[in-house]
Amino acid sequence: MTQYVYYFGDGVADGDASMKALLGGKGANLAEMVRIGLPVPAGFTLTTEVCTYYYANNRTFPQELKQQVLEALRRVERVMGAEFGSSNNPLLFSCRSGARESMPGMMDTVLNIGLNDTTVEALAKQTGNERSAWDSYRRFVQMYGDVVLELKPKDKTEGDPFEVALEHKREKEGVKEDSQLSVKALKELVTEFKQLIKTRAGKDFPTDPMEQVWGAIGAVFGSWMNDRAIVYRRTYGIPHEWGTAANVQAMVFGNLGDDCATGVGLTRDCALGTPGFCGDYLINAQGEDVVAGIRTPKRIEETLSKDMPAAFAQLNDIGKKLEKHYKEVQDIEFTIQRNKVYMLQTRNAKRTGFAAVRIAVDLVNEGLISETEALQKRRIPADDLSQLLQPIFDPAGKKAATSEGRFLAKGINAGPGAASGVICLFADEAEAFHEKNPNVDIVLVRKETSPEDLRGMKAAKGILTATGGASSHAALVSRQMGKACIVGCSAIDVDYTTKTVKVAGKTLKDGDFISMDGFSGEVFEGQVQTKASEVIQVLVNKTMKPEESETYRRYAQLMGWVDKYRKLRVRTNADTPGQADEAVAFGAEGIGLCRTEHMFFDHLDEIRHMIVAETKETREEALAKLLPFQRADFAGLFRSMNGRPVTIRLLDPPLHEFLSDRHLEEQPDLAQKLAKWTGLSLDAVKRRVGELHEANPMLGHRGCRLGIVYPEITAMQARAIFEAAVQVKKEGINVVPEVMVPLAGFVTEFKNQEKIIRATAESVFSQTGVTLEYLVGTMIEVPRAAIRADQIAKDAEFFSFGTNDLTQTTLAISRDDYGPFIGFYRENDIIPNDPFQTIDQEGVGDVMRIGVERGRSSRKDLKIGICGEHGGDPASVMFCHDIGLNYVSCSPRRVPIARLAAAQQALASK
Ligand code: PEP
Ligand code: MG
Repeated sequence: MTQYVYYFGDGVADGDASMKALLGGKGANLAEMVRIGLPVPAGFTLTTEVCTYYYANNRTFPQELKQQVLEALRRVERVMGAEFGSSNNPLLFSCRSGARESMPGMMDTVLNIGLNDTTVEALAKQTGNERSAWDSYRRFVQMYGDVVLELKPKDKTEGDPFEVALEHKREKEGVKEDSQLSVKALKELVTEFKQLIKTRAGKDFPTDPMEQVWGAIGAVFGSWMNDRAIVYRRTYGIPHEWGTAANVQAMVFGNLGDDCATGVGLTRDCALGTPGFCGDYLINAQGEDVVAGIRTPKRIEETLSKDMPAAFAQLNDIGKKLEKHYKEVQDIEFTIQRNKVYMLQTRNAKRTGFAAVRIAVDLVNEGLISETEALQKRRIPADDLSQLLQPIFDPAGKKAATSEGRFLAKGINAGPGAASGVICLFADEAEAFHEKNPNVDIVLVRKETSPEDLRGMKAAKGILTATGGASSHAALVSRQMGKACIVGCSAIDVDYTTKTVKVAGKTLKDGDFISMDGFSGEVFEGQVQTKASEVIQVLVNKTMKPEESETYRRYAQLMGWVDKYRKLRVRTNADTPGQADEAVAFGAEGIGLCRTEHMFFDHLDEIRHMIVAETKETREEALAKLLPFQRADFAGLFRSMNGRPVTIRLLDPPLHEFLSDRHLEEQPDLAQKLAKWTGLSLDAVKRRVGELHEANPMLGHRGCRLGIVYPEITAMQARAIFEAAVQVKKEGINVVPEVMVPLAGFVTEFKNQEKIIRATAESVFSQTGVTLEYLVGTMIEVPRAAIRADQIAKDAEFFSFGTNDLTQTTLAISRDDYGPFIGFYRENDIIPNDPFQTIDQEGVGDVMRIGVERGRSSRKDLKIGICGEHGGDPASVMFCHDIGLNYVSCSPRRVPIARLAAAQQALASK
């Protein structure tokens, strides 16, 4: 018989931490905590297989589940010495979701299951606290109504109906906090809530505890498929098939009085990574109050040692024990009942890129983990390194904003980073605005953070809320996404109906600019000047010394380990000496792609002259004018790269990008000028330009097809490359040019171009009396080139996968205008990723694999790289490692990310 239910409690557990796939992260870690002797209330986990069954069988449960749940429930009753549904000694349960990978706040939870009009009285007697019993009851009816019976606000401007009723009650009683409500008020609320359920959901609130627990279990499994959970999984690549587990656990109470509390903690800070236990707690409150972001809690590190010294000491001990056991920063949930701590959850903490680097490096320096462990992908997702390179607010800019009276307020700094953007108050509007104006930054401003806002958070650059603590679910999620985040900024008053934010005596409107410093928690009106991150100040701008920046020093230590373990080389795509210098500062080991058209765009007159020319002589005349510019550009690149290999690609884009009817219309004197330069009639010029028009320019006269039809272009570019190389070599700098032919599919195309390149090299060498080593290779950007790589590699000395074009040509999806349907494809899980960002491994990836195998079958040591955009995407870099490429090439700022991803894969595949 399949075991669907796993028990834990009283020092024994059926499961352990290794069983996350079956028990979910929460279930597996509850079992593990029981095993290592931490105080955990007894309970049981319904496995992810139950969830899979539930969805495969029309939302029903396996037959044997009922009996297994009943047996586990009786076992918990025995251990806890109380009885579920008893009218004199009642036991209550919570029911929480828990997937294999944590999805903070995306799924549902129900607390205080088992309460009804009878058991509430028994609970009051048993705890000697009538108020807390009724407080628990009103919470239960509220949660059950919200989660199980799905009673939600009617529209986005209406508040949560239960919270509205609560607010009225607080006003009526003249109190500020829920914890100050009288027993009478709580009793009235229970009746009102039940009535709300009856009128809005058309059902009676169930009084049978067994019915309640099954209702909660169904809701938890049902929440696996709610919209925010689906969006979250899509964002983080979590398969929909995994399913969630459900954990049913005996309740302990944080709301029995002032010696009780509920809280969430981190074994060290996860915004900046600073050491020391920290977190949020609320005295005399229950579970969800802290994480739901509705109230602003107190800080553990600031006040808990005074409020509850014994519990504070116990928490610190537990934190140390957990870090030692898991060798990782933990994010915990706990309840303090009568000064004693109970653990409800532990998991590896989500953190920002800043914190990820600091924590990993600190854990190595503290001797808790090794260098190779520090580099694990789950500790530092390679993409998150980019946060260390983002601009920060310039202190001078903040000072100026303050003296101009633009300082607005200060909240809790929950996610570092600088964000200036337009105010958006609703998640759906932020998403829609972002789609229309992708270049305008948004700051999502809300009363409270709620995981429902996930889509809007993704679209925003920063998130600012009036309530909530640093551990609220939304703060966790925004940190993981690398957004600047400020919560608990109580000075702001958000009004959803008038779409305004009142703060510091001012009224800001939806669409106004606001700036937020996620490092300090400060909020400013309008925009604030930014400056480069510390890493960039040290490495690129050289305006800071390494010893002045702790952030830089940890970055450097980490990158030292990265370079020790990676096998892939990392180059950069750079067209100018400035870009090349920056890339070298980030660790680039060469140029993998110099797109020479960049240089052509700076000399449009000459290139247009060349295009319009009808005879070889006039074309050569124009090319002769371009030659010195190209030569100077290449010499600059060779100098910057100082002996490192430089791959220069011959001209690629379709000629009409330089000259088309549109250009003639926009510049009325252009046709005249061209006629004068070439000696052609005006009509001949216009006809020539008309001939350039193509229906599918991406599949048209571009790439090596240009150099084949106009060999003078290739000859001029080759001459510029070799003359520059000779010149720089004469200056005493080693030069290794690699000349690359674009878009070849037939070996004959490659050979045609190779012949011109080599002949030009020989001519330059004999004219100058200087020779040097060079390579001639090709891009692999059309499937035919990969399929016939065996033929091409006989002549080509290196390959570089141009995966932008290879994706376009393999999938027959235009890279220029796939936007309208790719979003729909992603939303509907037709494809898992945008194939122009992450290599489609099964399709394009297999074409690459064929290219590598067949290429090396002809030339064993063929050097192979990639220079499409994918060269800076961590998942694609890892794939390139797996198929045995020699290097990846990416834009300068992606270089550190590619280095880290390469090391991570080298270690993972050891
Ligand atoms: C490619 O196609 O991947 C490539 C690098 O070339 P481009 O983007 O210039 O077409
Ligand atoms: Mg290309």
